[in-house]
Amino acid sequence: MAILTSNDRSVRPASKPAQEDSWQAEIRQAVRTSSELCRRLGLSESLACDAAVGAAQFPVFVPPGYLARIEPNSPHDPLLRQVLPLGGEGKAVDGFTADPVGDELAALHPGVLQKYQGRALLIATGSCAVHCRYCFRRHYPYEEVPHSEAAWDSALTAIAEDPSITEVILSGGDPLMLVDSRLAMLVGKIADLPHVTRLRIHTRLPIVVPLRVTDELLQTLTDTRLTSVIVVHTNHARELAHDVAVALSNLRDAGITLLNQAVLLRGVNDSVDAQRELSERLVAVGVLPYYLHQLDRVAGAAHFEVPIAEGKQLVGELRRQLPGYMVPRYVQEIAGETNKTVLA
Ligand SMILES: *Cc1c(COP(=O)(O)O)cnc(C)c1O
Ligand code: SF4
Repeated sequence: MAILTSNDRSVRPASKPAQEDSWQAEIRQAVRTSSELCRRLGLSESLACDAAVGAAQFPVFVPPGYLARIEPNSPHDPLLRQVLPLGGEGKAVDGFTADPVGDELAALHPGVLQKYQGRALLIATGSCAVHCRYCFRRHYPYEEVPHSEAAWDSALTAIAEDPSITEVILSGGDPLMLVDSRLAMLVGKIADLPHVTRLRIHTRLPIVVPLRVTDELLQTLTDTRLTSVIVVHTNHARELAHDVAVALSNLRDAGITLLNQAVLLRGVNDSVDAQRELSERLVAVGVLPYYLHQLDRVAGAAHFEVPIAEGKQLVGELRRQLPGYMVPRYVQEIAGETNKTVLA
């Protein structure tokens, strides 16, 4: 990932738009330790110590714009809980494993997963703008992700050889961690595959660092012949701050279909009120709720699990209270299945 150093920035011509610099600068300023996170939020040192085991497995990473949305002095804040390792992360729990969704079985080629008909998922980069504690990719072997242009070419060759693939899904990590020039190049190469008609990007960046929605990104997505769909990832209404709403509205104005996926998380969004507020806020900012995922049983995330029976009840109640288009499909990914399993 080509994050510019401050030296590079100083030699940059003054006329060059500064947008790419500003989102990267925000990511460089991320809080990277639990003690710093707790200190900035007025939380006790003991919470920070509890976090040590989890942080050693998967480091803390929270950029300042997301930090600003967390309520200070509030250890149970639903945004904080997504980014602060809790003591429970260190406990081994039966059934919680390193590869709960069978990704290692589904690799078509290094960096390309094909689990479902017609769709290939390309792992464009291993990095993210935030580290979500429940993430099923926390143990993923990202060293194998293609980084060079030549490695991408060979991943794309695997897709080129299968004309049944009509949609390429960029995932990661977070594919919008790629700088605009590299992303434009990748989108161009995908558009060169005649059987591919849709480009889907799964990203949390417009939510975490809304500055990432640069003019150049909008240009890349509008110039392509591919139909662009972006699936953002929001778990709580408070993540959708004003600057996020502006970024999403720019994406929508560019004609991009916007969907949201969330994960059902204990202590974050495991109530009818939290889910209803999330759906209402999403629709208000032009995003349709797509999926509510049952937590993948990844080692270190057991404290986030909500039993499926409780999840079904919750979604059932949501369906009574909201218009149908505001209710996400409650789904689970089961290794070896040919599609995501709809639970409710
Ligand atoms: C979730 C997923 C998809 C997309 O599934 P949809 O139901 O079309 O959203 C595709 N490939 C992989 C590997 C996935 O995990
Ligand atoms: S942004 Fe997505 S891939 Fe990255 S840690 Fe969070 S959930 Fe995982």
